[in-house]
Amino acid sequence: MMTIDRYAVFGHPIKHSKSPRIHRLFAEQTGQSLEYTAQDVPAEQFQSAATAFFTAGGKGLNCTVPLKGLAWAFADSKTERAQLSQAVNTLAVQADGSILGDNTDGKGLVTDLTANHAIDLTGNRILILGAGGAGRGIIGPLLEQAPHSIVIANRTVEKAVDLAQAFHHKGVVSGCGFDDLQSRQFDLILNATSASLSDQLPPLPDGLLAENGVCYDLAYGNEPTAFVRWGLRQNAAKSLDGLGMLVEQAAEAFFIWRGVRPETRPVIELLNSERQA
Ligand code: NAP
Repeated sequence: MMTIDRYAVFGHPIKHSKSPRIHRLFAEQTGQSLEYTAQDVPAEQFQSAATAFFTAGGKGLNCTVPLKGLAWAFADSKTERAQLSQAVNTLAVQADGSILGDNTDGKGLVTDLTANHAIDLTGNRILILGAGGAGRGIIGPLLEQAPHSIVIANRTVEKAVDLAQAFHHKGVVSGCGFDDLQSRQFDLILNATSASLSDQLPPLPDGLLAENGVCYDLAYGNEPTAFVRWGLRQNAAKSLDGLGMLVEQAAEAFFIWRGVRPETRPVIELLNSERQA
């Protein structure tokens, strides 16, 4: 009997996840036969739900808020980028049956910035707002683009300082609080806080964005987020949200699972046109 390869995204909440749609579009486009579903899994149920999924023959999982740290602990082995970020968004069954954990968020962000939006990060002064799971995942791939420096600013200052410390050996990275941003300027400001999800904004001084600077909110929605709107008010050359990153990180997961790289542009265009409708 032919069985179909099964994949899923686990998260809490998960109802509005676009991942099933994106992976079905990738499967259609590349002629791959697979099933991809979304499952609401609170943190306390992650271990049993993931074990049940893989025991029943599931091939791969995406994990989103609040499960990325738990997925990191669940994986039998980790890629270097997942190890560094201590967060896993992609679990994949290996030939020997063990589970590999990877983190495709940072690669997704960098591909969206550099390939889709033609932004050269070399020599950039980068500010990351937030020091949670997403912040952790993007620092390594951003440093690979040879920026001038990365500053991490967070509401809980110690988390920013600790996170910066973890990447000291890889580049010029420092951590601070939002109050320490006065009189400083950045070429790229990335919002990796979850404030946008409640239409809020971290407290940011005017003048923070350099001339021709770019703002990028990792969050996305049908309407411009509070941070995207802030970027427009600061005259950003571009003020973008994270829909492109979402599609690019999914493409990277699809490649890990299926060995085929889908074309992302038509999927981004489709999702963009749907939210504008
Ligand atoms: P997380 O681990 O829960 O971290 C949340 C971060 O936001 C923490 O640094 C927290 O600061 C900060 N924060 C929360 N509310 C705030 C507020 N009102 N003012 C200032 N800071 C606030 O979440 P995450 O997994 O890193 O996700 C962060 C965002 O990235 C979410 O919007 C998520 O949707 C987005 N994301 C997008 C993609 C994509 O593909 N586009 C991928 C991953 C994540 P404290 O440390 O002080 O609590």
